[in-house]
Amino acid sequence: MKIECIRTHHIRCELKEAFGFSQWFYNQRNVLLIEVIADDGTSGWGECYGPADVTQAAVEKFYAPRIMGMDAQSIEAIWQSMWRSSLDFARAGIMMGAMSGIDMALWDLKGKALNLSVSQLMGGAARNTVPCYATGMYYQDLPEDRLLDVLVSEAVSYSEQGFKAMKIKVGKNLNFDEKLIIAMRKALPNTILAADSNHAFDLPEAIKIGRILEDNDYAWFEEPLSPEHPDLFRQLQDKINIAIATGECEQTRFGFKKLIEQGGVQLVQADLAYCGGISEALKIRAIASASGINMIPHVWGTQLNLAAATHFLATSYSEPGRSESKPLFLEYDRTENPLRDNLYKVNVEVKQGEAIVPTTPGLGVELDNDALSEFIICTTESK
Ligand code: MG
Repeated sequence: MKIECIRTHHIRCELKEAFGFSQWFYNQRNVLLIEVIADDGTSGWGECYGPADVTQAAVEKFYAPRIMGMDAQSIEAIWQSMWRSSLDFARAGIMMGAMSGIDMALWDLKGKALNLSVSQLMGGAARNTVPCYATGMYYQDLPEDRLLDVLVSEAVSYSEQGFKAMKIKVGKNLNFDEKLIIAMRKALPNTILAADSNHAFDLPEAIKIGRILEDNDYAWFEEPLSPEHPDLFRQLQDKINIAIATGECEQTRFGFKKLIEQGGVQLVQADLAYCGGISEALKIRAIASASGINMIPHVWGTQLNLAAATHFLATSYSEPGRSESKPLFLEYDRTENPLRDNLYKVNVEVKQGEAIVPTTPGLGVELDNDALSEFIICTTESK
């Protein structure tokens, strides 16, 4: 079974309402989908996190010609071949994002070829459902007192839909952050809450916000500091008693090994569409486990990445092991995204805040070709 064709699809949609976080506002969503087709007609799909148009060139111009004709089921051999062919200039960044989408597509393809779900390929699911946390509470262009009410109402609506855990954004400004953290806890006394600053703080600010999160019983503080200063994580950890999470912009087992060895991080969040793919995520999970910490994927994008993360968590064991183990929550982005909600015939089903682990071959989600054609900006085909 040889790789005969690789297509890439840059898809895009405009959003009805822009939404923001500590760094910028989104007014459109862009994703790069990868379709790998074998010579028997079996096809697999993956997606890449990162700038879709730039990543598209990396797949079409660089990796596709180099892996054409390789055995489609030899995923590790293909990964190693891509890695070695770009090692001098692509150990991280967009090129690794491109490799991730190809790798994801190969897992989907292999599952379909062998009539096994990706969970089964990973070693077998330990559970049929995975608890989700709702990611939302992004900023809107509103006065702050109004915005506070809107964000609390949004969070309450997720609780009413059955979500037991959710994540807010912090990093707007310290005054607003403090009000929001407290208001959320007051409105949702029994919900597992987490907060994500997307690298907004310096060390003194992170200590201040970390202590407010700790006082309000938040489960983790995500990306409190710039990824350029991983040594500061240890200093932050010495001052606050809340788990520090990071890793959505880190890649490969080598990057995560360094990050974990620096200390101060309790939860790593590799993105399966960016960290080097499913193959690399499994290695990152092993490294995290060997250090006694958990890996819960960062999920942003469409159903393919969501399905990949669902299979990943269905096959995960929580550190430390115990009879009533700590749940590992799947990130379930609730911001407006037609590329996630209107592009697939078969989605990852989420009911009452629990994702049902797909059992059909491959990743277990299925694109709607008519919908796909509506969103396509640019398709490439390599043979
Ligand atoms: Mg994040």
